[in-house]
Amino acid sequence: MGKLIKRMRKTMRETAFLGMPIMAGADLSAFMTLTRSAKSFLHVTRRVLSHLRDLAVHGRAMHLVNGVALAARLAKSAQDLGVLLIESAPAHALLQENGRVTGAQVHSPRGPLQINARKGVVLAAGGFPHDIARRQALFPRTPTGREHLALPPAQCNGDGIRLGESAGGVLATELASPAAWAPVSLVRHGNGEIGHFPHIIDRAKPGVIGVLANGERFCNEADGYYDYTSAMIAACAEGEEVASWLICDHRCQRRFGLGYARPFPVPQGPVLRSGYLKRGATLAELAGHCGIDPQGLQRTVAQYNTHARQAEDPAFGRGSTAYNRKMGDPSVTHGNPCVAPIEAGPFYAVKVQPGSFGTFAGLKTNAQAQVLDASGAPIAGLYAVGTDMASVMGGFYPSGGINLGPALTFGYIAGRHAAGVQGYESEA
Ligand SMILES: Cc1cc2nc3c(=O)[nH]c(=O)nc-3n(C[C@H](O)[C@H](O)[C@H](O)COP(=O)(O)OP(=O)(O)OC[C@H]3O[C@@H](n4cnc5c(N)ncnc54)[C@H](O)[C@@H]3O)c2cc1C
Repeated sequence: MGKLIKRMRKTMRETAFLGMPIMAGADLSAFMTLTRSAKSFLHVTRRVLSHLRDLAVHGRAMHLVNGVALAARLAKSAQDLGVLLIESAPAHALLQENGRVTGAQVHSPRGPLQINARKGVVLAAGGFPHDIARRQALFPRTPTGREHLALPPAQCNGDGIRLGESAGGVLATELASPAAWAPVSLVRHGNGEIGHFPHIIDRAKPGVIGVLANGERFCNEADGYYDYTSAMIAACAEGEEVASWLICDHRCQRRFGLGYARPFPVPQGPVLRSGYLKRGATLAELAGHCGIDPQGLQRTVAQYNTHARQAEDPAFGRGSTAYNRKMGDPSVTHGNPCVAPIEAGPFYAVKVQPGSFGTFAGLKTNAQAQVLDASGAPIAGLYAVGTDMASVMGGFYPSGGINLGPALTFGYIAGRHAAGVQGYESEA
């Protein structure tokens, strides 16, 4: 990456460990089994040592994985092709001439800048997960717009949508869901920073269940993040806060972690002191700390345990799908990797609220990613991709990757169309 690395965002603090991003798959598995396998221990030791060296020499993680690696590769390719990259420079107005979008005005770190575009302007400002007013208008169960823990960067605050609308674009709202729901917990860091942790895999681990304020379960917690959040929104009584608690016992928390409360050997002290991780010697005490109905929780855990001792979950079917099992305990090769009883205290809970990986509602476009006006006609010179474009999945969440896959595809299509590459009708 050379000097470009200094200009890249770092991985979210909540999904990194000591600022070190961990890759989904084999890398993460090694971290989860570091006290149980010599091979894993060696892998983690190497990773941590090389990360500490990177911190000392470069002041940041240099081993890039997941989304940061994708963004870095795209930035490097663009730089290698001679593209001028200007970061921290929000566009605030579009330039228009004779019904065509011809550029944008930008607040750059060196002052105002006008950028003229011969071929087109592509809106890709990350949708509106941080636009409070739009969230209030479009998200369910968000009376003030603030009852939502968005995961994308704070800068994704609806600028692209507003710019598109200023040129005549239309926001598509008739989707199955306005956002890519995720179950999220609020993390208060020691330095006062607030973070959002996405609960992607912990819900499926054996010995974890999710309950509402009445202490009752409401879904198969091992299903996808979108499904867990939709079920939580539907299950919470109208007028009440939409929230659930992930519950587990000591063995499970130390073995798999619970949200941002990492597994052994990471100490629990800081997350207990900050109030992120609630602990109770008994289930009733834990319920008291969380504001959960104690009898409801005790009844639910007793019913769950009756079947969990046989590795079964007749109530909701944890472990009944390939997806469930993939997210469960990989060391369980026979039996149910998603079910274990919750028996030996102390017991733990983490509060989980509705959040999102980004928005689905976005600007209406055609197959060339051109923004459409109210009559359905393309606006010359204006494209929208990524989450500024309305979800091509119609607001459904069939699988992981349904955000980045279409974002890359339509970015590619928009570029070729604007450039007038053969096979694409150009507006140029
Ligand atoms: C933790 C997490 C995990 C995810 N995992 C997956 C996954 O596994 N698979 C998947 O498909 N999707 C995943 N997603 C979703 C995916 O990352 C997003 O849908 C995707 O990055 C959206 O791309 P985008 O180009 O629309 O916006 P972004 O990647 O958010 O980029 C938008 C950029 O525009 C900038 N910006 C904002 N306003 C302006 C302005 N006025 N002018 C100029 N720039 C502006 C922002 O600062 C930002 O850099 C995940 C998201 C999160 C948060």
